[in-house]
Amino acid sequence: MYKNLILKSGRDRSIYNRHPWLFSGAIKDLPDARNGDIVAVRDNHNGLLGYGFFSPHSQIVCRLFAFTKEETDFSGPDFWHQRIRQAYAIREEHIFSESTTAYRLLHAEGDFLPGVIADVYGDVAVMQLLIKGTENVHPHLISGIRELGIRYVYLKNKHNPGFREEVALENGFLTGETSETHCTILENGLTFKIDFEKGQKTGFFIDQRDNRALLKSYSRGRSVLNTFSYTGGFSVYALAGGAAHVHSVDVSKDAVQMGDTNVALNFGPDAAHQSYAEDCFDYLRRTENSYDVVVLDPPAFAKNAKSVPNAARGYKDLNLTALKKINPGGILFTFSCSQNIDTDLFRKIIFSAAADAQRNVRILHQLTQPPDHPVNIFHPEGEYLKGLVLQVE
Ligand code: SAH
Repeated sequence: MYKNLILKSGRDRSIYNRHPWLFSGAIKDLPDARNGDIVAVRDNHNGLLGYGFFSPHSQIVCRLFAFTKEETDFSGPDFWHQRIRQAYAIREEHIFSESTTAYRLLHAEGDFLPGVIADVYGDVAVMQLLIKGTENVHPHLISGIRELGIRYVYLKNKHNPGFREEVALENGFLTGETSETHCTILENGLTFKIDFEKGQKTGFFIDQRDNRALLKSYSRGRSVLNTFSYTGGFSVYALAGGAAHVHSVDVSKDAVQMGDTNVALNFGPDAAHQSYAEDCFDYLRRTENSYDVVVLDPPAFAKNAKSVPNAARGYKDLNLTALKKINPGGILFTFSCSQNIDTDLFRKIIFSAAADAQRNVRILHQLTQPPDHPVNIFHPEGEYLKGLVLQVE
């Protein structure tokens, strides 16, 4: 019932290793299928290996969502609903609670659903469909999400004109009923307002939840600088932890305003918080302040493999500048969310910044993404967030 994608002889190793991506070099016969169709992946002897979404215009011509030797029909909702229930089971047990109402429900390959991201904010799931194949099955994804009791599904795709995998669905509520495009959530008992229509990505950087909680435990009585502060996530936690004062810096005026709103929602109008809508590199160079704790959570500097050397220089420069602003005995929380910069390289970059800063530096914590951003062990590319907590003498 599905068109066949036949692999070259000896090129089925990656499938044995359950890697979900197939590159064009491994393919013997491309199917006569359309962008986004489900295809059956077969070895050179026509043996079935699994099923995936076909992307003829991409380097990754197929993203597998099922490894099976059994002929299977994916046209009904059952398979998709089961995937969603399996994803939810982890979140329900470990994350979702009365005091934490925002979590990532679907993390693409990490939940065996390539191309699908869904972040839940209370009764709304904000979804991103990153490849055409996911558009074809989206009614099953929506009904599966609604079966969990989540009432609304909102599509928040980044539209890239000219990108040939472009999903044609319009952004907005996909569930018939509409609601507000902003909401208030709780994270570890702290309140955040989220604008998922205008905000970045799905509206909130849920992946830093555990790391923000750790910052809270380092904040008592300390002066804290939160750079790339977006809507104030780390700042709110620092204040909750009893920081003496917190400075937030982000280049986006809207984000800074929302950060101020979030601080006020939690601590009223007189919180010990000051925000700056400014480039973080400029701020760090111009300020005469020094801090007990600095947070560096920049956007991904390396968008692809080619930009790694430039990105590495960017991270080093940023960390070196920040290290110079840290009081003796102070703490640096430093992150990279570039998929192309792995844990080892990140550590080398920070090593090099620490050497140039001529400070004694110890690693206290090595941080990563939380369990609602799981890493499929066969798809190490999904491990993108890394962080170090350093003590700086
Ligand atoms: N730490 C945040 C998420 C940071 S996202 C949280 O926990 O929610 C990255 C942020 O960096 C975005 O808000 C973006 O506006 C900001 N940004 C990007 N380049 C910047 C620059 N050069 N200077 C200041 N902010 C920048």
